[in-house]
Amino acid sequence: MTTATTSGPGGRMRFHIDGWDPAYGSAMEDTGEATTVAESTARIDATVETPPEQWAPVVAGPESKEPGAVVFVDGVRRIEARAWIPDADDTGASMGVAASYASGAVCCCPDGGAHMLVSEQRRGLFTTDAHTTDVATKAGEFRAHHVLADETESPAVTLSAALQRELLALELVTAANARAAVSGHCAEPDTDLLVIDGPLRSRDHLPRALGFIKTHRAIYLPPELNAVVGRLGPGERTPVFLMGTSWDRYAWYLRLPCRPGSPWVGVVRVECAASLTAKEAVELASLSQLLLPRYASVEYKDQRAPQNLVPIAGLERQLRRRLGDQKMVYRALQVAAASS
Ligand SMILES: [Zn+2]
Repeated sequence: MTTATTSGPGGRMRFHIDGWDPAYGSAMEDTGEATTVAESTARIDATVETPPEQWAPVVAGPESKEPGAVVFVDGVRRIEARAWIPDADDTGASMGVAASYASGAVCCCPDGGAHMLVSEQRRGLFTTDAHTTDVATKAGEFRAHHVLADETESPAVTLSAALQRELLALELVTAANARAAVSGHCAEPDTDLLVIDGPLRSRDHLPRALGFIKTHRAIYLPPELNAVVGRLGPGERTPVFLMGTSWDRYAWYLRLPCRPGSPWVGVVRVECAASLTAKEAVELASLSQLLLPRYASVEYKDQRAPQNLVPIAGLERQLRRRLGDQKMVYRALQVAAASS
C-alpha cells in the first residue's frame, strides 16, 4: 500500500492504492445490464402487432427500405485500482474506484465499409468522499466524481453504478456526435439507423435508434408467448410488444442465424422508443430482421457468436486499446499516490 498527498483545487488530498489485483478488471467489470432480476414484474402489452392468441414466429417481410448507414454505438469500462481516501481526522477512510471508460461509434455504410466515426475516453476517481479532488497521473487525469453514499448497498456497488451512469452519459454524447458525423455519409438525410449495444434506457429519445440486448436475465413474456421465442427459426422474430419496467419501450425477440441448439441460442432482444407509433415500431422490427443477421458473428471466430455482432466486437477491441495498458495505468496511479 502506498500513501501520498496530492494537491488539487480543494487542497491537499492523501490517498492509498490497494495492491495490484488483476481480478478487479474482470470481477468488477460488467455490462451494466445485471440490474434486471430473474423474476420480472414488467408490464407487458402483447397486442401491439398481433392479438396474443395469434402469436407466431414472424418471417422476414418484403424488403424494407435500407438505411443509408448503420451506426453501432458501444462503451467499455475498466476498473484500474481500488483507492482509499483517509478522513480528515484519520479515523477512517472512504473507498474510491479509479476507472477508465470509453465509448465510440462505428459506421457501416455502403461506401466506407466499417469505420470508426467518433470515440471518447475518460478516467475517473469515483468515491463517496466529498473532499476528493482530481488526481493527475502520467496516464492522464482521473477526474473526481463524488457519489452519494447509499446505506442499503455496499460502497463497491454504489461506485460501480456511478461509473456505469457516467459511461451511459458518455455513450449518449457519442451517439449524438455520431449522428452529426454520419449525416454526410447518407445519400438522403436522416436515413441512418443507430444500433446501441444494451438497453435503450435514457437513450430512447434518439430518433431511429435500436437497443440490442444479447443476454437474457429475466423472463418478460407470459409462458404461452415466451414459448414462441423457442420456436423462432433463424432470421425470425416474435411480434412486437410493449414492455414497461422503470421505463417503457417496444421490444421483440429475434433469432440470429446460428447452428441449432438450446431454445434460446442466437436469440437477442431488440428495443425501440415507446414514443413511436405501433406501425413505426413494426417497421423497425422488420428492418432489424433484415439488417442484424448480416452482422452476426460466426462460431469459429467468436465464442460469443452469433449475438456478438461483428462491428460491435471490433469497436470494443478498439475502445479497449484506447484505455491504454492496464499495468501502466496502475503504475501511474501508484506513482501519483506515492509522490507529492
Ligand atoms: Zn460511413
